[in-house]
Amino acid sequence: SAKKSLGQNFLTDGNILRRIVDAAQLNKSKGALEIGPGIGALTQYLADEAGTVVALEIDQRLLPVLDETVGQQDHVKVMHGDVLKEDLHALFAEHFHNVEAVSVVANLPYYITTPIVMRLLEEELPLEHIVIMIQREVADRMTASPGGKEYGSLSIAVQYYCEAELVAVVPRTVFVPQPNIDSAVIRLTRRSRPPVEVADAQRFFATVRAAFTQRRKTIYNNLRAAFPEAAGVHDMREVLLSCGIEPSRRAETLSMEEFARLSERLGVLSGKQE
Ligand code: SAM
Repeated sequence: SAKKSLGQNFLTDGNILRRIVDAAQLNKSKGALEIGPGIGALTQYLADEAGTVVALEIDQRLLPVLDETVGQQDHVKVMHGDVLKEDLHALFAEHFHNVEAVSVVANLPYYITTPIVMRLLEEELPLEHIVIMIQREVADRMTASPGGKEYGSLSIAVQYYCEAELVAVVPRTVFVPQPNIDSAVIRLTRRSRPPVEVADAQRFFATVRAAFTQRRKTIYNNLRAAFPEAAGVHDMREVLLSCGIEPSRRAETLSMEEFARLSERLGVLSGKQE
């Protein structure tokens, strides 16, 4: 029986499986890493297209099933492990050393979507695409542009590293058991370099998070709370104006370029303060 705590909702629709695999643009000289193969529905599609497939599943009970359904093929490796703990660089070195490119393809466990995606991006794994089924709402946030309510620090974190595209919206009815939310498939493709230049990526992300602390508040109020002016070195209103940003705006209206300018300026000022 499916384990709710592990986010087990199994896909049953061949059309959706086909679209996921097609979006990954696999061929026999490429590899695929599947996170959470479940009982192997998607795994077999991957095995038909890719030269090497590694399927990493946390639920020990599913291993014998997977060994039987997909694991008998030489180019398919079924592994027991937790994607958040596994040494992924070692896994790549061991299993993907003879392929041209590797993509992650998965119907993710929804309770840990963001940690998994951020781990894949921050570890700088050599990935061609990340094609994942996730909650519709999270997909909308990851692919959002400035100006809407979906746009926030997750949009910027993802789009700093990747180009993000919506592949398909998926109704809840194609899963067993049926979850109580709709899903979507997105494709993330790593950029050769970030769309903005920042001296310190961590400060850039910290600035973005600070700006979105309270979405209804102005950028001025959020930043002033996060970077106190007490030292008297800078006035946040002037900092914003010097970056060409009206202090009464809200974070959701700022482009990545504007956040970058802001974080660089704050960096210069905090340097002066020390
Ligand atoms: N790929 C299958 C399908 O499409 O039918 C199953 C997808 S199901 C949404 C998510 C799968 O991820 C489950 O099999 C679950 O046991 C597994 N899983 C949950 N947490 C995991 C983790 N930390 N590492 C690896 N797999 C995990």
